[in-house]
Order: sequence, then structure tokens, then C-alpha cells
Amino acid sequence: PHQQAEQRPERGLLIVMTGASGVGKGTLRERWLHGQNVFYSVSMTTRAARDGEQDGVDYHFVSEAEFLQHLHSDGFLEHAEFAGNRYGTPRGPIEAALERGQDVILEIEVLGAMQVRQHSQEAILVFIMPPSLSELRRRLEGRATETPAQIERRMARAREEILEAHRFDYVVLNDDLDRAVMDMHAVQRSERLRASRW
Ligand code: 5GP
Repeated sequence: PHQQAEQRPERGLLIVMTGASGVGKGTLRERWLHGQNVFYSVSMTTRAARDGEQDGVDYHFVSEAEFLQHLHSDGFLEHAEFAGNRYGTPRGPIEAALERGQDVILEIEVLGAMQVRQHSQEAILVFIMPPSLSELRRRLEGRATETPAQIERRMARAREEILEAHRFDYVVLNDDLDRAVMDMHAVQRSERLRASRW
């Protein structure tokens, strides 16, 4: 790679993180990406913003009509329904970021991750595994952003998602945050070497 200094930058990596709601993906991602110049893909959703969430930062919060309009103009790289709301990854900015040599990070659920895999051979799929289902429930209840019915819905989805973990390229156990952060760095470093034009 050092001989290529004057050529175009190498293409960025497309890294997809998937894991149950409440598994701590957000915290892990922030710690892992801290100080890195990557492109984090902000999804569109029809879900209502939680306290503290910012439009354009955590999500683009849109109406059902806006979401469908985007969908029908082929504006999503992938999209899915999750626990009664719609979520989608805007297609536009991603290819440009990869071309610039920036790594692109998607944080999406399982069905979306599988769609990305189908459309893009280069995608690297990482499944974030909770220490246990009871710990996951404890975290979901602890953050108190969902009603009991919504928590049950998310727990049911979590059980289904874990059954799909074997389809991912990597599984990172989030029992110890420091270790999980190191695992994400290791995945990224290894994949970057693998993608290098030697
Ligand atoms: P939450 O409502 O907890 O923010 O997200 C619910 C689930 O939707 C999480 O698993 C999250 O990763 C996933 N999600 C967020 N954005 C997208 C997206 O653009 N596409 C898909 N398929 N899932 C998403």
C-alpha cells in the first residue's frame, strides 16, 4: 500500500453492524469510531424520536408519506420494518464516501443487513451478540424508552435475530465493552489489509 501514495486512495470498507435493540451497539460504535474519519450512515425512520435524539444526527425522522416517497424513488440501499416502524439507509451518500476512501458504517437490523449482502459483495457483516437474553431484557428495561409491550416485541425480535448470527462474517460479544471495542478494531484492521492491493 505505501507505493500507492500518489494514486487514488483505496476504497473504503462498507461495515454493517447488526445486533438486538438494547445490546449496546450505539455505545460500542461511538467508542470504536472515536477519532476516526469514517462516514456513519444516518438512517431514515418513521419512529418517533426518543428524548435526547436529534433529527439528522441519530436518524432522519420522517413521516410515513416521506418514507414511501423515498422508497418509490429507489432512494434506499436497504429498508425494513422493525417493531412497527420503518427504517431505511439512504443510498446517495454511501458510494461517494467509499470512493473517497472513507469507511462507511451502517447500524441496521438483520433483514436489512441481508439485503446489503445481496446487493454488495464487499459488505462486511458484523453481528453484535448480547451476553444473554436476560441481560438484554435488563438493558431494555433499564433505559426505559419503550413500553412493556414494545419491550416484548423487541425481545421477540432479538431471539429471531440471534438465530441469524451464523450468517454474518463476524460475531462480536458485547459482554465487556473494552474488549468488544478492541474486537471491532481488529475486524476493521484485518479487513483493510485484506482489501489492500498488494
Ligand atoms: P431503534 O428503534 O432501537 O433505534 O432501532 C431498531 C432497530 O432498527 C435496530 O436494530 C436498528 O439497528 C435498526 N435500524 C436502524 N436504522 C436502520 C436502517 O436504516 N435499516 C434497517 N434495516 N434497520 C435499521
